[in-house]
Amino acid sequence: MRSFGSGTRVPTLAAVLDIVRERAPVSRVELAEATGLTQATMTHAVRKLTALGFVREVGTVRSARGTPRRLLGLVPDACCMVGFQFDRYHSVGVVVDLAGRVLVERELAGAGDRAPEEVIAELAEAVDGMLKEAGLAREKVLGIGVATYGPQDREAGVLQVVQPTAAWLDYPLAEKLSEATGLSVALENDATAAGIGLQVRGDAASNFAVVFMSGGIGAGVIIDGYPYRGATSNGVELGHISVDALGPRCNCGNRGCLDTVAGPIGITELVRKSPALTSRFAIGSDVLDNFMRVGRAALEGDPDAKELIGISTQRLSIATLTLVNLFDVSRVVLVGAAFAEVGDMYRDALQEFLDEAVFMRHVHSVQVQVAENPAGAPAVGAAMVVLRNLLESPSETPPAA
Ligand SMILES: [Zn+2]
Repeated sequence: MRSFGSGTRVPTLAAVLDIVRERAPVSRVELAEATGLTQATMTHAVRKLTALGFVREVGTVRSARGTPRRLLGLVPDACCMVGFQFDRYHSVGVVVDLAGRVLVERELAGAGDRAPEEVIAELAEAVDGMLKEAGLAREKVLGIGVATYGPQDREAGVLQVVQPTAAWLDYPLAEKLSEATGLSVALENDATAAGIGLQVRGDAASNFAVVFMSGGIGAGVIIDGYPYRGATSNGVELGHISVDALGPRCNCGNRGCLDTVAGPIGITELVRKSPALTSRFAIGSDVLDNFMRVGRAALEGDPDAKELIGISTQRLSIATLTLVNLFDVSRVVLVGAAFAEVGDMYRDALQEFLDEAVFMRHVHSVQVQVAENPAGAPAVGAAMVVLRNLLESPSETPPAA
């Protein structure tokens, strides 16, 4: 049964909508039973979702007492959301409907060293192109979600970091993209966004962690169906957990950060120590590309590449174990472009390590999975963030259905 926790939290419309999506056609009685909410509260929530055009009555079913129960279903095409995930090396755009189905997906260039204005213009162009491809009017779009790295000021829609270049520090990303598209824009941490997106895939109430790897490494945690946000939504920075106390100094100030010793940045650095390997793997300035080449070589059985990926999986396993022990999750999902091809290798290595070393393994097992679409999942999640934000602040006006 779905649980909303101790009762100190107010269940959101988003959570009710998740159940309608999961179980439709569903009666109000079933919804109330599944959520533990009172009939009156559930009726109120359903009325709001119906008024938004997201839910409608789809038929009736005879109940034990003879009075027919009205069944509710989702209206998947009531609106759609645009999602982006971008970082220096990789970017994806999607259009997603209310059911969480991907209508269009596009690979885009990473931000590289380009100015924010240029990247914003490209994202705005992608919005136009994707809506055209999906045959959707702009009025159908609830908004744009942008999933990216931190630290960020999620509320203000501003990045608080000098990467990819100094021009991005304090750049009003959400405001500028909103100006360029005429749509509202929500910013979200990439790994947290992926977690929110995965909830739509039947994971609405669960406890799980997302380990994200693209150019950098991050993580997100969903507890009882809610993203763990910390004080400023900048928590669970797995990439800056030290796995080597005497390791190289990271930009963040810490030493031996997972990002610098296990992710694409770390693998690139390790390869660069050998001129022969640098040449064999055609190491350049794009760390994600470098990593993908080493990963492919490892899949083909290259012993040096296998050793490098082995170092990466071992260090990522240590950090993931820490994450699992801290939050007592029962599942870890791997997402991000870096897992697109070598995800299964990481899954197997992490699973083996966690099976041997998780503190609560005698109470419950912890399952490691690769997301269905590792490269696209954070963008899909970003799109679902738009919906979630709207449902958590019902004063906002939805588009005409
Ligand atoms: Zn660091």
